[in-house]
Amino acid sequence: MKKQTKVIRTQTTQTQYREHSSPLFLTSSFTFETAEQGKALFDETEQGNLYSRFSNPTVQEFVDKVCMLEDCEDGVATATGMAAVFASLAGILQAGDHLIASRALFGSAHQIITQILSKWNITHTYLDASAPEADWEAAVQPNTRMIYIETPSNPGLELVDMEMIGRLCKKHNLIFNVDNCFATPALQNPVDFGAHLVVHSATKFMEGQGRVLGGVVVGEAEYIKPLRFFCRQTGPSMSPFNAWVLSKSLETLDLRMEKHCDNALKLAQALEQHPAVKQVNYPFLPSHPQHELALRQMSAGGAIVTIDLEGGFERVSAFMKALQIPSLSSNLGDTRTIVTNPYTTTHSKLKPEEKKALGITEGLIRISVGLEAVEDLIEDFAQAAEVSAQLVAHV
Ligand SMILES: *Cc1c(COP(=O)(O)O)cnc(C)c1O
Repeated sequence: MKKQTKVIRTQTTQTQYREHSSPLFLTSSFTFETAEQGKALFDETEQGNLYSRFSNPTVQEFVDKVCMLEDCEDGVATATGMAAVFASLAGILQAGDHLIASRALFGSAHQIITQILSKWNITHTYLDASAPEADWEAAVQPNTRMIYIETPSNPGLELVDMEMIGRLCKKHNLIFNVDNCFATPALQNPVDFGAHLVVHSATKFMEGQGRVLGGVVVGEAEYIKPLRFFCRQTGPSMSPFNAWVLSKSLETLDLRMEKHCDNALKLAQALEQHPAVKQVNYPFLPSHPQHELALRQMSAGGAIVTIDLEGGFERVSAFMKALQIPSLSSNLGDTRTIVTNPYTTTHSKLKPEEKKALGITEGLIRISVGLEAVEDLIEDFAQAAEVSAQLVAHV
């Protein structure tokens, strides 16, 4: 069976009520039929649910579906994407280990690596996403344990060549960990390139409608084992309610991503022709510096488009005022188109030189392209570009 069929047809075992849609097991704990069963469950001679910090049928249903989509053996769900990122690093790395990471990382991942892992003497080396193989290899030290990347990156849409990183990890016996949040398993499966761990903020496209938070790490059972221990003891468990929402969302992930990507490409193409837009960045535009790599490792360009506007914050402000349809929010991956100015919001805590290295200019607008009619989006963005350019020119 194809993945799409399996994901739609997977759910917790039907109860005596013969429900069709998957039930929600909103319970913190589970009962033992006898004292003997309690003992057996705790000494693990019998497998079963004990307590929802450890496991829960609704949460497991969500994890099973992500494993299917990412072609992974096992996984752990967490309360947020950041808990998943943190578990995938802190659950495996030991004091004294060295981590190699692409510089273009989600802001909080950067904070974990520089401010938290460093407290435990876990050191790191950052590389530009597009650095050549020789540079990545030169960064490998005797104590290097893992390479952690995000592709495409937020908000620069820089890609990392996963085939190359997979090859290096194999050669040097390193764990290959990928944040696949932007592409989702609908567009790329990092395990096809040798990834051992795949991390997601389920809050974004997996959720798809901006309602609940969630995270998940999937991968080879050998690597998930220490993560499961880490999560069970430290407690960043996913709420069964959130799992119930997210599990249903996964059934439409493929369909939604198809439309998201189609809208994003059309909007990017239209804005690239617009005289009042300085630059458009989108992996499936031939003008993207890594367009060929995008075609090689992604089946579509994703739902995030960035544009650069001339005229500083004044222009950004006028542009956002002129937009009629999109929401101004720092979230992404919603049915509703969202715009944000990373320079003053999501990435405002970075130092000026860090912003520069990541291509985060004052005039950068990140667009999470939604599922509205693309004609309406094109018209709205075009008029806002025009109006804001005129306004700023007149000041
Ligand atoms: C949002 C995001 C995260 C963090 O996820 P939360 O669910 O907000 O904790 C991690 N990585 C990427 C690429 C993201 O976009």
